[in-house]
Amino acid sequence: MSERWRVRITGTVQGVGFRPFVYRLATDLGLSGSVGNDSSGVILEAEGPAGALDDLARRIADEAPPLARIASIDAEAILPTGETGFTIVDSRAQGAPAVAVPVDAATCGDCRRELFDPADRRFGYPFINCTNCGPRYTIIRSIPYDRAATTMAGFVMCSNCRREYEDPADRRFHAEPNCCSVCGPELTLMAADGRVLATADEALDRAASLLAAGRLLAVKGLGGYHLACAADDGAAVAELRERKARDDKPFAVMVPDLATAHALCDLTPEADAALVSVRRPVVLAPRKPGPTVAPGVAPGLPELGLMLAYAPLHILLMAAVGRPLVMTSGNLSDEPIAHDDIDALGRLGPMVDAILTHNRDIHIRCDDSVVRASYPAAGTRGQATAPGGDPDPAGGGQPAWHAGVQMVRRSRGYAPEPIALPTAAHRHVLAVGAELKSTVAVAKGANVIASHHIGDLEHLAAYRSFLQAVDHLCHLTGVTPAVVAHDLHPEYLSTKFAAELDLPTVGVQHHHAHIASCLVENGYSDAVVGIALDGLGLGTDGTAWGGELLVADLDGFRRVGHLRQVALVGGDRAAREPWRMAVAWLAAALGDEAAERYGRTVDERWPTILTLAHRPDALLTSSAGRLFDAVAAILGLRARITYEAQAAIELEAAASGQPLAGLGGYDLALTDGADGIVMDPAPLLAKVVADADVGVAPGVISAGFHAGLGRGVAAAATRVASEHGLGTVALSGGVFQNSRLTAVVVDTLRAAGLAVLVHRHLPPNDGGISIGQAAVAARVVS
Ligand SMILES: [Zn+2]
Ligand SMILES: [Zn+2]
Ligand SMILES: [Zn+2]
Repeated sequence: MSERWRVRITGTVQGVGFRPFVYRLATDLGLSGSVGNDSSGVILEAEGPAGALDDLARRIADEAPPLARIASIDAEAILPTGETGFTIVDSRAQGAPAVAVPVDAATCGDCRRELFDPADRRFGYPFINCTNCGPRYTIIRSIPYDRAATTMAGFVMCSNCRREYEDPADRRFHAEPNCCSVCGPELTLMAADGRVLATADEALDRAASLLAAGRLLAVKGLGGYHLACAADDGAAVAELRERKARDDKPFAVMVPDLATAHALCDLTPEADAALVSVRRPVVLAPRKPGPTVAPGVAPGLPELGLMLAYAPLHILLMAAVGRPLVMTSGNLSDEPIAHDDIDALGRLGPMVDAILTHNRDIHIRCDDSVVRASYPAAGTRGQATAPGGDPDPAGGGQPAWHAGVQMVRRSRGYAPEPIALPTAAHRHVLAVGAELKSTVAVAKGANVIASHHIGDLEHLAAYRSFLQAVDHLCHLTGVTPAVVAHDLHPEYLSTKFAAELDLPTVGVQHHHAHIASCLVENGYSDAVVGIALDGLGLGTDGTAWGGELLVADLDGFRRVGHLRQVALVGGDRAAREPWRMAVAWLAAALGDEAAERYGRTVDERWPTILTLAHRPDALLTSSAGRLFDAVAAILGLRARITYEAQAAIELEAAASGQPLAGLGGYDLALTDGADGIVMDPAPLLAKVVADADVGVAPGVISAGFHAGLGRGVAAAATRVASEHGLGTVALSGGVFQNSRLTAVVVDTLRAAGLAVLVHRHLPPNDGGISIGQAAVAARVVS
């Protein structure tokens, strides 16, 4: 007895090989019917025995293609028609697009095999791809997603490629970027002045020889250009650092395979999984001892950023060079990554010896994503429950928090994948983010969709990139904003942009947006105690917040506590010169004598800073990031930085190998103030100075500082939770990229019986702000 079902599937189901996948399943199961795309996803009708229809629905969910993300599968029974055979309907989207744009994906195993098979017609072809892999987001100009809407539009498929593209049984059926060496893009090796040196296979060979000989190259990848050199060549790495004007900021290293990655770093199973995933982020992980890469790759840091080759061009290049390569964003200092060929020649030409490029345009730039593998410090093995009580996928007695990876920069391979909102948005929202690590996001229906990483908006080039990102994201998602959400800081370019749009605006306080992004990630919509620790964000009282306790949900927040405030001496320069914050904090906590004693050792301008710190009109800050800076400076680790948060990163690094519990006596005093609990680090700083005076090692003091600050902040949050009858605490803000501090806070809160929400899939730093803003604004307007 035959039945007929109509099945609707939503999510990321177009452009990922979904129709041929359903076709193969249905014909396998002997079912008749058809499958096609429409504006909401994939729709199929299948007819046959009920058992086979059940199997079909189950296998669609279980065996979906690697790039598909199914949001829902709904089946309804309809009248059988007696149809025979199964067909793929070449339907076109109607009306407003609701289908998610797929992410860029690393070369799949099948394509990799063909790439190295001399009998294959794509042997050694650096643009090989199929429905399971290849470029997507970065080449899509508009939707509906088909070849004409991509930067492949200008390449006319040869008859062989066309046959694959039109055969429902082929792995390349409707693989929009499908091509081969006969009909597709081609490599070119150019000199720094734009002269063509070689093309096709010869370009690849000569590029590989140049890299092996210690030369610097710009290499065009999926989302932009990288600057590349051999990672084990100290002279080449030093030269790259100088030409890029990047003093100490670590470079990412590309490796050919997992075995090479394991030779360089200690990797957990979770770190391995991230490395080999189709998203292929850079994974930050503890490096192994020994001279495996040049010291200049990540100066003074115990971690290395590794990624596996993800585009066929990278795979071929790695195979030809046979050594790990530095692959850092193709830009000068903090400008946006170069993705346009003319721009690359102009900006990168002067920095490199040659440029390995090609004629497949990148429509939208997209930097590599970065995740951090978290590890237990010595002696911290404990309970194995994940945040929020979820089962811990790591298991095996690993302390849950310390396993897994945490998002640091969410870009290539992740953007523009939709993120579910705890409650649906009834109007379209555009959220423009903050200033540093800028992203933009739109909220629409059940989802919020965030852009790729744009960069720091203080640069004009980044602002132009921001404008493009807003346009492109709205266009791809079919969003016409009804409201725009922004930060409260009036001087951010994003805020000014929001004000210029002729739309209702919603100002979302920076730390509320941080906590909201953590609620979104955890699918949580009830009130929580929020601990927001970061650099700076403008507060509702006009001071610079950054060490905040909030009682918050998506509808609003109340500030119920904060770090003690001190003068932010010199505004932006306070962040670049941590010694200034050390003077200000020592004066505030221990008195002028302590400030003077330190000041004399570090910079002759100390008396000016001390005077500024005492001025009644000084801008005050409760920033946790600046407190980390102060302690790093007091310990002599770093008085001036060359990249954002360098002092705090080095302070955490100094403590690596130390137990989490640290020394006793590092205490945060909790007192009452006008805005709730004041968390005063004065006793903690007194202990830092006293221990440093008697020669305790900086790493030991750093561990004590982390432990004392973490315990104190958690104790304050526990008090707030009991006063407000709340059982859940959410952690957000860039300081929570510090896994040692996070571990102490999480352990202390759990020991007090509280549930803890943390970030894993969204960055705790300002890259997540647009997502939080969108979620809050979606509530305000609904
Ligand atoms: Zn493939
Ligand atoms: Zn072809
Ligand atoms: Zn922030």
